[in-house]
Amino acid sequence: MHQPHAHHAHAHDWVHVLRARALRATAQRVAVLDFLHHHPHSDAEAIFQGIRPALPTVSVQAVHLIVQDLSGNGLVRRISLPDSASARYETRIDDNHHHVQCIACGRIEDIDCAVGEKPCLNPSDTHGMRILEASIVFRGICRDCDTGASERSQTP
Ligand SMILES: [Zn+2]
Ligand SMILES: [Zn+2]
Ligand SMILES: [Zn+2]
Repeated sequence: MHQPHAHHAHAHDWVHVLRARALRATAQRVAVLDFLHHHPHSDAEAIFQGIRPALPTVSVQAVHLIVQDLSGNGLVRRISLPDSASARYETRIDDNHHHVQCIACGRIEDIDCAVGEKPCLNPSDTHGMRILEASIVFRGICRDCDTGASERSQTP
């Protein structure tokens, strides 16, 4: 069975991507996908703020339902990060990439998996489970925050 390749989709392809999953290509769904494509790792609130100018009738509740729906259908990936209170979403769904997040400012960047396939860590004991993936999040401090902190500590 041929799966649509969402990662190759440009803005004008979202209608096709949605229809290929038998989802109605509503203006709100297309707007959410397009926004996430250009602003990866956004939470529902940020998506809402981003698409509201073009879609004044959209509500934050509607955005929550749309991202749930899209992640349930495998069109977006939902990520939970230890230093983010809310779930983030992205359209880069085709690989096993990881994330690094700055613990100071919350900035999130993609990191290609060094191994490539899931799971990229082998557990010492699987407890009889078939391991699907290792959820890996790198935590760090970005250069801007690091520089800011050392400048502040030098101030008497
Ligand atoms: Zn930072
Ligand atoms: Zn990502
Ligand atoms: Zn990996």
